[in-house]
Amino acid sequence: MSRIIAVVNQKGGVGKTTTAVNLAAALAEIGRRVLLIDLDPQGNATMASGIDKRDAHPSGCEVLLGEALAKAAIKPTAGKFDLLPSNTDLIAAEMQIMDMKDRERRLLIGLEPIAREYQYVLIDCPPSLSLLTLNALAVADSVLVPMQCEYFALEGIASLTDTMDAVKRRLNPKLEIEGIVRTMYDVRNNLANAVSAELQRHFGDKVYRTVIPRNVRLAEAPSHGQSIVEYDRGSRGGVAYLGLAGEIIGRERAHAAARTEAQH
Ligand code: ADP
Ligand code: MG
Repeated sequence: MSRIIAVVNQKGGVGKTTTAVNLAAALAEIGRRVLLIDLDPQGNATMASGIDKRDAHPSGCEVLLGEALAKAAIKPTAGKFDLLPSNTDLIAAEMQIMDMKDRERRLLIGLEPIAREYQYVLIDCPPSLSLLTLNALAVADSVLVPMQCEYFALEGIASLTDTMDAVKRRLNPKLEIEGIVRTMYDVRNNLANAVSAELQRHFGDKVYRTVIPRNVRLAEAPSHGQSIVEYDRGSRGGVAYLGLAGEIIGRERAHAAARTEAQH
């Protein structure tokens, strides 16, 4: 069974792309079949996966427009996961699908033939609750929220859960929160610790135990077109993302066991 996880936060610079790429690589390293979808016209996840966004034709753009099959656009990466690349063409795609009647389901339709080939499909979303993000929310089983523990972070998460509620009513009743991951975390920062405690009070065990520290190796890896697993898996950032992958797989096992239990 495949699990489709949208990596979403409408704020930019909170670690969405870093999380999507490195989690994809870490899940693949643990032996899972993983597809990473770059749904941000900036194409950062594409470049960070070692694929040149300027050479990516067809890309997510053609898949959303129904002009190419996902299979034709997907590329293998050195990080053992597959990538559906993107570039600025996605801006034009978003404008064109605006007038289509199934405009929020273009990604769902495009993924339909291939999603089952993967155990995890991760979607790196743009920093807005735009039509592209809605396409991700319409097809996703769940949302993974990278969060920097700063003053306005909780407000941002409230507007995200409002959007999720609206999407559940109109488009995708199964949508749930996969988890919240604290990124660029500095344990010496009192405000970060206070926000983190508040987050745990609100969201309980939806907040991953694994914390992603601020680590320069994570910031360096994309310029080499490598995930942290290839670039420096023993770094604090590498260990953290491999730990997060382990935690996600562990949760999935626990849920599966609970489902089996409930059937007996
Ligand atoms: P988003 O996709 O939410 O805009 P990014 O993942 O691109 O955010 O991260 C923003 C910037 O912060 C990038 O330059 C990235 O390399 C850097 N960064 C992200 N996470 C970390 C981290 N844990 N430690 C250090 N730098 C990080
Ligand atoms: Mg990004």
